[in-house]
Amino acid sequence: MERWSINESVKLYNMDNWGADLFSINKKGNICVHPSSSSKQSIDLRALVDDLIKRKIKPPILLRFMDVLQGRIASINRVFKSAIQENDYPAKYQTFFPIKVNQQRQVVEAIANFGKRYNIGLEVGSKPELVAGISISTGNGLPIICNGYKDTEYIETVLYATKIGYDITLVVEKLFELEKIIELSKKTGIQPKLGIRVKLSSKGTGKWATSGGEDAKFGLRMSEIIAAIRMLEEHGLLDCVKLLHFHIGSQITKIDKIKTALIEGTRIYAEMRKLGVGIEFLDIGGGLGVDYDGSKSSYFSSVNYTVEEYANDVIYQIKNICEEAGVECPNIISESGRATVAHYSVLITNVLNTNTQHLMPDFEEILTQAENLAPTVKKLMDIYKSIDRYSLREDYHDTMQLINEAVSLFNLGYLTLNDRAIAEWLYSKIIKKLNGIVEKIKPIPEELQNFHLALRQTYFANFSLFQSIPDSWAIDQLFPIMPLQRLNQKPDVMASIADITCDSDGEITSFVGETGRTKFLPLHRIRKEEDYFIGFFLIGAYQEILGDMHNLFGDTNAVHITFNKKTGYLIDTVINGDACWESLKYVQYKGPEILKHVRDNLEKSVALRKISIEESSHFIELLDRTLLGYTYLGE
Ligand SMILES: *Cc1c(COP(=O)(O)O)cnc(C)c1O
Repeated sequence: MERWSINESVKLYNMDNWGADLFSINKKGNICVHPSSSSKQSIDLRALVDDLIKRKIKPPILLRFMDVLQGRIASINRVFKSAIQENDYPAKYQTFFPIKVNQQRQVVEAIANFGKRYNIGLEVGSKPELVAGISISTGNGLPIICNGYKDTEYIETVLYATKIGYDITLVVEKLFELEKIIELSKKTGIQPKLGIRVKLSSKGTGKWATSGGEDAKFGLRMSEIIAAIRMLEEHGLLDCVKLLHFHIGSQITKIDKIKTALIEGTRIYAEMRKLGVGIEFLDIGGGLGVDYDGSKSSYFSSVNYTVEEYANDVIYQIKNICEEAGVECPNIISESGRATVAHYSVLITNVLNTNTQHLMPDFEEILTQAENLAPTVKKLMDIYKSIDRYSLREDYHDTMQLINEAVSLFNLGYLTLNDRAIAEWLYSKIIKKLNGIVEKIKPIPEELQNFHLALRQTYFANFSLFQSIPDSWAIDQLFPIMPLQRLNQKPDVMASIADITCDSDGEITSFVGETGRTKFLPLHRIRKEEDYFIGFFLIGAYQEILGDMHNLFGDTNAVHITFNKKTGYLIDTVINGDACWESLKYVQYKGPEILKHVRDNLEKSVALRKISIEESSHFIELLDRTLLGYTYLGE
């Protein structure tokens, strides 16, 4: 076996750059997760998965590390705190967690409980999210900010909640909303706490650039802000306005875009203060990005800045403009969702062992007795025998041409199935040999890079891309993917990852590599009887809720894990994934009805002696078990 060190794996998968010091590889060659970036404590993911399987929890399993989540909240707040100290900023910072990023009750509860010490709040954007927010806020007084379009019911709910003591800020997204708010406030006699969302002309970058700028869906233009101020003044409600909000999109990849937005937003704040609006909070929205591929670039799966840089810029720019304009500095709110939750969850699943080498016909003998071969196939064989580094390029071209020729001849009826199979076999032998030669030539000539693709092997993983990492499909976002084990061995296969849906889009062909995006995921050749697991990392933001039920693959099993000094880890909760009957229920099938139908039908077959009574009861049992079982693949 070739020598291979753990450090080479760290480099190959670019772990140091995307892992935020939360992941490492142990001496056994297994990947480990740490509760926070500075902690020596760790959980061996492969050992954890083996333990979970012993507990009959089947893959795919979503692992949720609550300590990691807490660590992220603590670290974002720590970074802002020191930026405030460094810049002598005279007011406070507060995070509001936008729950659309991950509404899972246990997740929001954990954020609320742990975040209390940092005065964390919740941001909601719809009626169900509002209700979720109120439910979590009950008892601990967590503040809530309401964005999104609002109807009468939404506004009235907020008004009455305000009346009984909830700290809720109703953000005006549109002028017509303000009319409704004023009307309902008069009718109920309840004064809301108001925020105003502005439409900046500054835009973000990346996939969500159009969340900002003149065409943005939300927010008031400058003339509308003036109108809002007049309307509120007229009805004696101007004092209700406490917050100014903007949001220029998620995953802002370039720091200079953030600066531009901060400058414009703070200017608007200052001008509104001068007009006598008593704004106390400047809410800079989300956008703080995550470096999914570790490239530290402005490519959209990355960001060209750190959280530290972000916090410093926010504090510095706001202070600077306020001083220049001669207005008081506001308390600062950021609605950082992605950066808070992306790291806390990992999906792990098994790779199906598809190594069928032992079933393949052995064509080796044709290498010695080639008399009966078709001329095209014979030429391929000659290339295979003679190829060397000097004939490389020419041989590669010839091979491509010959393999096309073989297909054409076959279609015209001039080549037998056996000959075409031999051609296919020779082709893959040539490519492998070529690869052996090319690997020693550095840099690899550009036109020869493509043939690498011919070497790529599809590994089938037991999961649905549409359910678990929908952004990989929808917007080509990169997520780090790695094997959980054997990281002390050189990966010898260049793979792509296919999921188990019947959709040809359910395949991942772009990966986080050592020097950026690559078309291969290096994996190990799976041994006979080996259980081989891979992990999908940084999937805590948006993926869990955006996931859909393509092919009726449902929610995966989820396990909540905390670190424990004595036992290594503790399992807090296991949330069972959807059973087949639950997936079917979404589309209006009913388990008991299905069973009844099939049973009635079976009895007819029993009567006709097409099937025995034993077989028929076995069939019903099987169907029953399937309905109650997991939607993903078992044994
Ligand atoms: C989606 C959204 C966020 C979250 O943005 P992230 O980039 O995930 O931090 C914050 N605020 C508003 C208004 C949003 O719509």
